[in-house]
Amino acid sequence: MIPFLDLKATNQQYETELKEACNRVIDSGWYIMGKEVELFEQEFASFCGSQKAIGVANGLDALILTLRAWKELGKLKDGDEVIVPANTYIASILAITENNLIPILVDPDSGTFNLTVKGILASLTSKTRAILPVHLYGQISPMKDIMALAEKHGLLVLEDCAQSHGAMIDGRKAGTWGDAGAFSFYPGKNLGALGDAGAVTTNDNELYNVINALRNYGSTEKYKNEYKGLNSRLDEIQAAMLRVKLKHLDRETTIRQNFAAKYIAGIFNPLIELPIVVDIEGHVWHLFVVKTKTRKEFSEYLSENGIQSLIHYPIAPHKQGAYSEMNSHSYPISEMLHESVLSIPISSTMKECEVEKIISTINNYKGSVK
Ligand SMILES: *Cc1c(COP(=O)(O)O)cnc(C)c1O
Repeated sequence: MIPFLDLKATNQQYETELKEACNRVIDSGWYIMGKEVELFEQEFASFCGSQKAIGVANGLDALILTLRAWKELGKLKDGDEVIVPANTYIASILAITENNLIPILVDPDSGTFNLTVKGILASLTSKTRAILPVHLYGQISPMKDIMALAEKHGLLVLEDCAQSHGAMIDGRKAGTWGDAGAFSFYPGKNLGALGDAGAVTTNDNELYNVINALRNYGSTEKYKNEYKGLNSRLDEIQAAMLRVKLKHLDRETTIRQNFAAKYIAGIFNPLIELPIVVDIEGHVWHLFVVKTKTRKEFSEYLSENGIQSLIHYPIAPHKQGAYSEMNSHSYPISEMLHESVLSIPISSTMKECEVEKIISTINNYKGSVK
């Protein structure tokens, strides 16, 4: 079986370095908010090209804390509307509702899976205060146009970069276009810790200071609490793991990009629709997502031929029990995507011959013969 993602193989590549880093933290006797977090924040900011990065506990918290900081700064208030793609992973929307803000779901482009300026414009109201573009599957949203629109209408922009570490468009990386970028380092993400972890990137010092305090009980200095904060710190041990893995991220991304190029050049099957790529050099391929009208049969066929595939995501957020208030809303593109998307393996530990096998297997797919 070609597994969808082999996390053990991914991390075993760096076993010696990871164990050294782990030992370094154990031996330091310092486990929270120390040198590893500080150095990772600097290294990650420098990787992205942002002035600052703030390590937090996970990607959802990175989103929540940024919106929360804007509320503390008086830039957002309860009931303000935040535009978000209807086909995102539910965490983007949870961060909005967690802050008593209103998510305005917008259908994405069906080929790139990302927000469009046209879609955003059609959803603006007098209550719109922010846009939360999600760079889904590793491809960055049309940020130049989104930023121009945001500037014109005085909107904040928070990029959800959980799937797009290092993704680029017009020479700038994800997390440096908007007022802030939220990253997840969940183990399966392109840059993955060995547990939960996340970060916010920003060039805004004021925002940086508030998030910095909010993640640590709202404390600006020890025992002085400026905000009603929470505990959402990045652990020293995860920061140390991430420092090791960040050094190898560009190499892993190049491997993913080579595999994606092979898929795009090699897959010819009228039953399988390939993703639309805006900038082939800027896409970091967190997932390789195809569309098909016969998804169930196609995934069973792949499985019978020894290839694991997954669905990202099977249920639209507005159809979830958690959002019963939105269950009757209609987002036709998003609903079509949730019916037809299928992710095929594209991990950096796959072998060339496995990629070739996946391509020929897909090309031999004849659809339903029943
Ligand atoms: C993974 C993910 C998140 C949440 O990150 P966690 O670290 O799992 O909390 C948010 N948004 C998107 C688009 C994601 O893929």
